[in-house]
Amino acid sequence: MTDAQSQGVAGDEELVSYLDRTRERRLESFKALLRIPSISGIPAHAADCRAAAEFVAADMRAIGLEHVEISETGGHPVVYGDWLAAAGRPTILVYAHYDVQPVDPLDLWESPPFEPVVRDGRILARGASDDKGQLHMHLRAIEALLATHGKLPVNLKVIFEGEEESSSVHLDAWLEANREKLKSDFAVISDTSFFEGNLPSITVSLRGLVYIQLDVFGSRVDLHSGAYGGAVENPVNVLCQIVAALKRPDGRVSVPGFYDDVAEPSHLDQQALARLPFDEDAYRDSIGVPALIGEPGYTVLERLGMRPTLDVNGIWGGFEGEGPKTIIPAHAHAKISCRLVANQDPEQVFQLVAGYIAKLAPRTVRYTIQRLGDGMPSLTPIDHPATLAAARALEATFGAAPLYVREGGSIPVCASFEGILGLKTVLLGFAPPDGQFHAPNEWMSMTNYETGIRTIARYWAEVAGIER
Ligand SMILES: [Zn+2]
Repeated sequence: MTDAQSQGVAGDEELVSYLDRTRERRLESFKALLRIPSISGIPAHAADCRAAAEFVAADMRAIGLEHVEISETGGHPVVYGDWLAAAGRPTILVYAHYDVQPVDPLDLWESPPFEPVVRDGRILARGASDDKGQLHMHLRAIEALLATHGKLPVNLKVIFEGEEESSSVHLDAWLEANREKLKSDFAVISDTSFFEGNLPSITVSLRGLVYIQLDVFGSRVDLHSGAYGGAVENPVNVLCQIVAALKRPDGRVSVPGFYDDVAEPSHLDQQALARLPFDEDAYRDSIGVPALIGEPGYTVLERLGMRPTLDVNGIWGGFEGEGPKTIIPAHAHAKISCRLVANQDPEQVFQLVAGYIAKLAPRTVRYTIQRLGDGMPSLTPIDHPATLAAARALEATFGAAPLYVREGGSIPVCASFEGILGLKTVLLGFAPPDGQFHAPNEWMSMTNYETGIRTIARYWAEVAGIER
């Protein structure tokens, strides 16, 4: 028996019986949280966001979390609380968010979005899985542990954000300001879902981002293409030449040095990806393209999860109206984004792309390059102790070893934890993969919810055994 288990923290009779006894009360509390229409993106719901923060803070105090505060950010507050009495044990930063997406179109909902109902093993409401359900699961796991044992097996610092669904506008500044207070060994974010087929999974990596706007300028105003064509540069032509030179037809990015820092996947990574159920033809058909593209030597899932990319997101310039207009446009523009993987640095990739564009741009035009945004890629290796502990907890509770998923997209808060706090993150999410997040009829599986609470309790016990 490990030290943690010997303390009876998880998988023990007391905890199991407590969770069984409190099922009804738990559901009522979950529903009460779901009834608060905390839509962060709609200003008219600001008071509701505040009410959700207060609800969550009161819950945290009631179950025994300490130093609970509603921390102002300039926008919707962050709710913070901690429990730090597990001397010598790891400290984990736990993240979820209490705000939700708007609910339009309302007429497509089977029942009102803020009047939760349980039907066929599902609880239906806005926020049921993204992310109030997962927030609530964490609180219930903490409650059960403290109620049955009077202590937690690890130290927890819990933050619940209120602006995740509206771009986390104030989060980075808040993290910067609270860097010392948030010091931890690693972070756990519960805001992701299981894999297709509701298979337990852990998201081990997310791609980062650098977003660029390129503006090319020629003459002061649009010119007559008959009177000037042939003697004066055309910025749209130049922009197209530059854009075309950034990437080869086979999908490989041509910017010198672009791949230099890319972490090569380990054998373990490749095996884990190959284990994912994936049907390439069905994937292609679901998108509606005649064929897929991608870097030679990599599978589709590797291209999506392990390799960086570069895409033009928009391009404009010159005459776009109906019929002909014979001009040499005065300017042309493109928005270009690169998805990055570990260990690429957005700042450095921006410099590489900008440097290459400088080489490509002819003297016949002027141009500017702006950096519109970025985010760090993140990777928590499959063999990281915090990941291994999560895998053990999932297997012990859901009865199946988890799949390891590499997301092609980004979760900004994950990038911020990596970039600002220097923390590795375990993405331990429990939402059903088809849970209709951001859409009408969002739902959470009651099995995932109940079992997930036990997984989280078990996880803290597993983490307690990690050497610091
Ligand atoms: Zn979310």
